[in-house]
Amino acid sequence: MSKICDNLGAYIFAKDMQGKYTYANDKVEVLFGCSKSDIIGKGDSEFFDLSMSQQMVENDIKVLSGQQQVVSEESNFVRNTSEQRVYRIIKSPLFDNENQIIGLAGIAHDVTEEKRLREQVEEQKQLLSIILDNVEAHVYMKDEDRRFLYVNSKVADLFGLDSKEIIGQKEQDILSEETAEHFHLSDSKVILDQQVLRVEETVIDNEQKYHYLSVKVPVTMAGKRSLIGFSTDVTEIYKLKEEFKRLANTDDLTGIYNRRYFLKEAEKAYSIFKRQNMEVGLLTFDVDYFKKINDRYGHPVGDEVLQNLTAIVACLLRKEDIFARIGGEEFAILLPCTDITSANRVAERVRREVESSLFCGIQKIQLTVSIGLTEFSSKDTSFDDVFSRVDKALYKAKESGRNCVTFLN
Ligand code: GH3
Ligand code: MG
Ligand code: MG
Repeated sequence: MSKICDNLGAYIFAKDMQGKYTYANDKVEVLFGCSKSDIIGKGDSEFFDLSMSQQMVENDIKVLSGQQQVVSEESNFVRNTSEQRVYRIIKSPLFDNENQIIGLAGIAHDVTEEKRLREQVEEQKQLLSIILDNVEAHVYMKDEDRRFLYVNSKVADLFGLDSKEIIGQKEQDILSEETAEHFHLSDSKVILDQQVLRVEETVIDNEQKYHYLSVKVPVTMAGKRSLIGFSTDVTEIYKLKEEFKRLANTDDLTGIYNRRYFLKEAEKAYSIFKRQNMEVGLLTFDVDYFKKINDRYGHPVGDEVLQNLTAIVACLLRKEDIFARIGGEEFAILLPCTDITSANRVAERVRREVESSLFCGIQKIQLTVSIGLTEFSSKDTSFDDVFSRVDKALYKAKESGRNCVTFLN
């Protein structure tokens, strides 16, 4: 028995009713730093600082007075090593043949290191949870079966559920089919390619569009291919970007496209024309004697006239036509997929509509415009060729007495 006890890898001991040792194995000898014969007959005060080993004293009392087994953790200060150690102990009462309690037997495992690691893991878990719940991103883990393994509080708030209700569930059981499929598209790619993926994701919720910038990282959890995702809500930035884009392409005064955007679109149309030979019409128009309007009514009224003029002309166009203000009171209209007969019809309609309209509320101002017209031609080498031809056509229209359309090819 003694041999067995010495080789169990645990501290094994027995004490009598006075707390004096009646047995100690090899490990106890090493711990106390003295031989078994020096241990037997002595109490714990010799080997431990009892003021710092209260749990041990209490557990012994519980076993001896309650006559019952105690399974517990004890934190004891060992005199020999001057160390506070933590033990997982089982202490049981010992009885004689008459069933009278005569002491206790104990077995103890040193779990100091294990406990320290456990506490460290717990601390790190708490720290991680604080970070993940306060980071400005939706953080989640999913396995390859689309089951959530983790969600931070931002994800829980987004889904309107408690994180406990999400973890363990498959995404298609929680999210709308459309949203779940949208997420799955990039998720499955990450898991298949085993590569980090950065994607922009758009989610429609209650008819509102939300934009996310997502980074998805492949990981293996418990032998299963999984991913960790970080999705940041960039809806506001996305909207701002769109608004900046719109403003960069828009003329301040009239709200239609500006010269910059017009030239960009015209270049695009020109390259399509070169590849596919699509028919494209182009007209530019300039208000006749506009200086006189400014002189007579003042610049602010002139501005208003330009706004009215834009609104009237815009009504005559298709949505694929590009209508832009390319100068002070000079405008351009790009007409994709339009042959020259139809383009001429549009130009005439613009001219007539302006001629027959009255501008600017009280003053009832009348206007006319001169229009230059051309079409994209195979002999052109760049859009510049088309643009300078239409300019010539407009100049000719002015020379021919204004309020007319002049075509050049
Ligand atoms: P025409 O074109 O028939 O030869 O005569 P015009 O008097 O219209 O001459 P031109 O096109 O050269 O002059 C354009 C005038 O438009 C000059 C400028 O004062 C005015 N103008 C340019 N931009 C604006 C603007 O944003 N607001 C106002 N109110 N006037 C502008
Ligand atoms: Mg003019
Ligand atoms: Mg002008």
